[in-house]
Amino acid sequence: QLEPLPALTPEFLCVLNDVCVKCYTDFAPDELEVSVREHILQDLEGFVRRQFSGARLRLFGSSKNGFGFRQSDLDICMVLDGQDTMDDIDCITIIESLARLLKKHPDLKNILPITTAKVPIVKFYHVRTGLEGDISLYNTLALHNTHLLATYGAFDNRVKILCYVMKVFAKVCDIGDASRGSLSSYAYTLMVLFFLQQRNPPVIPVLQEIYDAQKKPEVLVDGWNVYFYDDLKTLPSRWSEYGGNTESVGELWLGLLRFYTEDFDFREHVICIRQRARLTTFNKQWTSKYIVIEDPFDLNHNLGAGLSRKMTNFIMKAFINGRTVFGTPIKVLSPIYPNQVE
Ligand code: ATP
Ligand code: MG
Repeated sequence: QLEPLPALTPEFLCVLNDVCVKCYTDFAPDELEVSVREHILQDLEGFVRRQFSGARLRLFGSSKNGFGFRQSDLDICMVLDGQDTMDDIDCITIIESLARLLKKHPDLKNILPITTAKVPIVKFYHVRTGLEGDISLYNTLALHNTHLLATYGAFDNRVKILCYVMKVFAKVCDIGDASRGSLSSYAYTLMVLFFLQQRNPPVIPVLQEIYDAQKKPEVLVDGWNVYFYDDLKTLPSRWSEYGGNTESVGELWLGLLRFYTEDFDFREHVICIRQRARLTTFNKQWTSKYIVIEDPFDLNHNLGAGLSRKMTNFIMKAFINGRTVFGTPIKVLSPIYPNQVE
């Protein structure tokens, strides 16, 4: 049973808002740090081409979606010129030989091929920058979902700030590491976007449901439709609810914590950003898990599938505590850092 939250004062909302904005301003990389990533990519592409002459490397994930931290990993996808796909066996062989090649690179350490994962990768550590990274092959859907997230982030600054807040929250609460059984940053970003679509009035549209033609265009990648409306210039005129929501980031953050602890029925509904209408766990036959997050393109993929019951409880407790902590006004002691709970 959740304790009712007290009424919030305008002063407290102001503090809450500042804390949220600070998550963005303190952690977003500057231009130089962004260009360093591009530089590493160029250098690696040149190096890999010594052995794989048609290789092309592209950054995806938070290096490109607009929600990156200074220390976020480098997610890199490699493709070969003139080849559209690659089967699993070839992927594994190439990942292994890529690992042997990268071991000779003077700036890289800790080269580790992981060929048993759903997406085989080779991990590395870039010594001079201290950045970690991995290279996957033909991870084409990831390039598209990165572009989708980037488009939502560029549409309204509150999206970007909230995605940072969510990632900071997940890190602080230790609930944001998929390799240790929790959810990935990608999954938390989808949770933020879903909340912003479901807010009344909504902060963002459902880009996969906006199109000019009579019928939704079909752009198939790995058998999935990756179409979405990505023209930000014309979007305001295409979306009737544009500008309807004027809440501050602070209000939205608390709104999000309340949404996932008070309103959203995890047993009944799927977190699904590709349609406005609620999708049920029953429709998807995904009733055995409590947190169900549908990938916006690969509709067979539930990002919550790997969660244990224990981890699910741990994540839900973090949200419940977050609701109390961010929803309880504090006495402002110092003008910059209020630190005492009333
Ligand atoms: P971080 O700053 O924490 O690295 P990120 O946005 O790069 O955040 P990652 O978890 O590193 O998030 O994922 C990078 C990209 O890989 C995502 O943008 C997404 O394209 C893809 N990805 C990650 N996890 C999944 C998953 N479970 N299913 C499908 N794609 C995923
Ligand atoms: Mg990443």
